[in-house]
Amino acid sequence: MQDFDAASLALPGIRQLQPYQAGKPIEEVERELGIQNIVKLASNENPLGISHLVREALTQKISSLARYPDANGFYLKQALADKFGIAMNQITLGNGSNDVLELLARTYVTAEHEVIFAQHAFVVYPLVTKAIGAKPVAVPAKNYGHDLDAMLAAITPKTRMIFVANPNNPTGTFLTTAELQDFIAKVPRHVLVVLDEAYYEYVPERDRAPSLQWIEDYPNLVVTRTFSKAYGLAGLRAGYAVSHPQVADLMNRIRQPFNMNELALTAALAALQDDDFIQRSVQLNAEGMAQITTFCDAHGLPYIPSHGNFVTIEVGPKAAEIYQQLLQQGVIVRPIAGYELPNHLRVSIGLPEENAKFCAAMETLL
Ligand SMILES: *Cc1c(COP(=O)(O)O)cnc(C)c1O
Repeated sequence: MQDFDAASLALPGIRQLQPYQAGKPIEEVERELGIQNIVKLASNENPLGISHLVREALTQKISSLARYPDANGFYLKQALADKFGIAMNQITLGNGSNDVLELLARTYVTAEHEVIFAQHAFVVYPLVTKAIGAKPVAVPAKNYGHDLDAMLAAITPKTRMIFVANPNNPTGTFLTTAELQDFIAKVPRHVLVVLDEAYYEYVPERDRAPSLQWIEDYPNLVVTRTFSKAYGLAGLRAGYAVSHPQVADLMNRIRQPFNMNELALTAALAALQDDDFIQRSVQLNAEGMAQITTFCDAHGLPYIPSHGNFVTIEVGPKAAEIYQQLLQQGVIVRPIAGYELPNHLRVSIGLPEENAKFCAAMETLL
């Protein structure tokens, strides 16, 4: 044992990684603090739960779980292709969209490459970049969001991938269709642009970029989406990428054969049929967003205007303490010091009574 140094044997990129910090699970807070009736507003989950169509489909499927899933996810791909007017061979399914983000990096990025993303961007981008040993290039944010001109200026011959989240997490900032298209048109073809649209459903239809249709003109564009947010399936892990068919073909070669499990395939397919559930979720989110931002306005708490199902509030240098005190009161939010926002807390929009509980707890701390 004395002669075994696990770290020195590991890949250099992996040695220096910090593990992903997830939102604190409800059960953990119950266990650690011995309190009940906890409200979790920490992981941008859908407070409505799941669609009744999903519940029915899952219940039916339980009895066939002894079988392997369809490794190609035929029916889910067919439904996605129909819904969005794309071809089935453009789709790569994943165990959450995190899975496809990692597949993209592993397919295209080596230790010799550079990967660009914005400051305050989703931590999975630096994580998959560093794991490979590639050079992460974090471009300083502009008004908390992407500075697209600076990101273009950061491109070098070594750049292989650029991650752009729209809306961005954890800041909720949003790029317009014109801004995005102008950017993508200027990115050279040797660089893949990964446009992460995890919060796509929360964007009003008139503001949504026709990103999937752009792939024909910009074959280096890859769009990722998820069933974890508006569709309410975070616990199942279901996401996908839409790309040029050749990109999908390459990703398919390193994908684990059954990376999307049978229940996830089943639930995602059923969830796609329930437009009403998405509408209600989006409506509830708009109302909850107003509830929390009205509270912030009334108490002089600055926040970053958000286009997602969460809002990032500037609570000051005591953010870590406030986070702990909220926990004591049974409200879990998300500290985001790891995103270079040490004075902010990210709060997911919950049910009206959950939002009210957050506001009431916050009020006692001001
Ligand atoms: C939540 C989120 C995802 C989705 O992750 P899944 O693996 O699909 O659950 C992807 N990107 C961003 C920016 C997110 O906030």
